[in-house]
Parts: sequence; structure tokens; C-alpha cells
Amino acid sequence: MDQLDLGNVSVTRVWEYFGSVEMTPDTFFPESPQATWDDGAEWLAPHFLNSETNIVNSALQTWVLRSEGKTILVDTGVGNHKERPYAPVWSRLETDFLANLARAGVEPEDVDIVVNTHLHIDHVGWNTYLDGRNWVPTFPNATYLMPKADFDYWNPANNHKTLLGRGNQNVFEDSVAPVHEAGRTLLWEGTHHIDANLRLDLAPGHTPGSSVLTLESGSDRAVFVGDLLHNPVQILEPDTNSCFCEDPAGARATRHKILGWAADHNALLVPAHLGGHGAAEVSREGSRFAIKGWAPFTPYQQG
Ligand SMILES: [Zn+2]
Repeated sequence: MDQLDLGNVSVTRVWEYFGSVEMTPDTFFPESPQATWDDGAEWLAPHFLNSETNIVNSALQTWVLRSEGKTILVDTGVGNHKERPYAPVWSRLETDFLANLARAGVEPEDVDIVVNTHLHIDHVGWNTYLDGRNWVPTFPNATYLMPKADFDYWNPANNHKTLLGRGNQNVFEDSVAPVHEAGRTLLWEGTHHIDANLRLDLAPGHTPGSSVLTLESGSDRAVFVGDLLHNPVQILEPDTNSCFCEDPAGARATRHKILGWAADHNALLVPAHLGGHGAAEVSREGSRFAIKGWAPFTPYQQG
């Protein structure tokens, strides 16, 4: 299945891409010993690790929420035709994302709200598409909710020295600025209530404006955590950062806090990039966490 109802909200998974990110565990997660990956290969492969090549597998996907009559997209992947000289694996993609979205019953003009959990290369791509020579908003009727802290941090005009550096080259210019210039952004700070079921909160660390979207409807709970974690190993080892965390100490503290909240509230934890079943319930295990059960989403199937 690709869809799950939580209270009065439906959650649908729409794929952009699944596979290699061309990084070994020790590149992607420098703090995580190789032994963890060797020991875990049996359950990590194939959705989270290619155990033959020792390359990490990741998903690019958008979570579509339908709540109070509105259609909301959480993160918009890499996008098509983007020039990414320092991220060749994501340069000039031509995926079927919009067709996959249509199969989920969503045409671009149907989208009311786009949530960018943060403004990294792989979370804002489908904000825009190439129309002739111009990048224009893909979702013409949507309000794009962006954390102001990230908007300011990644805006090249502000000249911030960032860890990701050129890895985010062109991203603001082709995927953020055109939407802002079209008057379609809402730059939020602190907390932003989308409706009675959905709330955005800052969860800084991975980036200064990284945020999480909390769903609370009836007795059901979920938390869409963006890049709080990239791989289930980080649930078991919550001190493990990815190499893309701008503030390593902040990222660790936020990961512990949000995982703790999810465990204490039986909330489904929905990261941006998990393959396999895509989301999990977690429980506390001392100062670490365990995977209590996977969501019922169907793993990626070729073709
Ligand atoms: Zn990401």
C-alpha cells in the first residue's frame, strides 16, 4: 500500500527515486563504525544498504497529506533538469515524479501547501520546473512554507560559510528564489499551525532552519522529520550524524529530543529518505532507541 489514514488525515507516499547515493557508510555517517553496518547487513539490505557494494541506499520521496480538504506536499525531492555540478548523482535528472504524483490523484494545480522541511538540494527540487529558459513554480496555487532561518542561511546574498558549501550550488537560485519572487512563499519562524491536525516546529541542527511536521488527529500521531535521520542505523545510534549536518552537536540533541517524543507518544516516525517501509514506530532503549515496528507502506518496486 502507498496510503495510510491517521485520524482524519491521509498520508500517501510518492516516489521520485530509490537507490544508491554513491556513498559508503563511513563517508555518509563518519561517526558510525563499519562493524555496525557489517553486523546489520542482514536487516539493512537491500532497502538501506547494498551489502555487496557497501553503498548506502536512499529514497527520494514526497509525503502527500490530505487534511481538512487541503492537499499538502512534504518535501519536493531533487527535481528534473537541475544543474548540480557538485552533486552529479542528482544532476539533470529526468524522473517520472509528476506522473507518480498524478497516479496518487494529485495534479500540480491541486496542491494547496508545499512544506520544505529545510532548504537542501534534495528537499526543494520540485518546487520549480523548467519552462523554456525559466524556473517557475510547479504548484501554481500553492503556498510554499519555508523556515525563515533556512531561507536566510542558504540565500547566497548573505554569504554564509556553510558545511555543504557547493553541494547546494544553484539550489536557492533555481528552486527557492523563483517561488519567492512569484509571491508564493510564507517564511515562518518558531511554530506554524497549518490546520487543526498539522503543525510545523523548528528542529535545528541538520540545518539552522530544519523543521518537523507533527500530525495529531484523534488518537493517531506522526512526525515528519525530514533529515533528522537518513538511515535506521541512526535510530539505534542516535548520536550518529550524517556528514551533512551543519551543527553536529545541535543535530544530535535534536535527534534525541524528537525520537524521544515519538517513542513517548506512539508517533509514527517519518523521515524523508527511508526506503523499505519508509517509516517506523520507535521505543526507548536506555539512551538509545529501537524499531518497534515498520509502517505498512510497500517498499519500492522497480518499474
Ligand atoms: Zn535530504
